[in-house]
Amino acid sequence: MVDVISNHQRWRHRQSIFNDIEDEIDRLHVGGLDDKDDVKLWKWGEGKFVSKFSSKKTWQHVRSEHQTCAWSQGIWFPQSTPKYSFILWIARRNRLQTGDKMQAWNVSVNAECVMCQGVQETCQHLFFQCPYSTEVWESLVKGFFRDDFTTDWDDIGEMVYGRSYPPTEMFLIRYSLQVAVHSIWRERNGRRHGEEPKAAAILSKLIDKTIRFHLLAVKATGHAYLERSLRIWFGIR
Ligand SMILES: [Zn+2]
Repeated sequence: MVDVISNHQRWRHRQSIFNDIEDEIDRLHVGGLDDKDDVKLWKWGEGKFVSKFSSKKTWQHVRSEHQTCAWSQGIWFPQSTPKYSFILWIARRNRLQTGDKMQAWNVSVNAECVMCQGVQETCQHLFFQCPYSTEVWESLVKGFFRDDFTTDWDDIGEMVYGRSYPPTEMFLIRYSLQVAVHSIWRERNGRRHGEEPKAAAILSKLIDKTIRFHLLAVKATGHAYLERSLRIWFGIR
């Protein structure tokens, strides 16, 4: 933003960049640009300043650009559910506070998986190598993956952004993944806080119900591949 203030009062700032801005304002003031009314302009591009504010353009200027994450489209896709996508995104980036991370902060914390009690809880284990999670995951997607069925976190990540499946099946696999991760994470938190554990078969049924409700809701969006989704989901159960 450019803001030329003719009756500007100078301040001393701790951050040197603000003092540089003060110097620039003084320079423009001395340069005799102040016989017109002051205006505020927003930077839209190199050397391009306009009076209209755009949050998109401003965000593009202040953010740091990184390489596009290939698997993001397997997490943020049309008709996904934001709260499920969010947990899956955090899990995929290995940022959930699983047992291994908690132990790094406090060695006395119980870092064992609360589902099977035999192994240190990591994202890799919790989703989906733990026998409990494998059972849930298998009940949901074995019908799609068949011989390619895997519980490897990286392989699953690759499958949900690749183009190996038709659009309807891909939507169902992606959606199953995000509901499964969200549900397993909730079950894990519930167990850690003393709630009654649910058997894997019960959790699978709840996830199945959640998916069916969502498919009913998205059926009416007018996308042909979503209209078929409920029928295909019933077909592989
Ligand atoms: Zn486990």
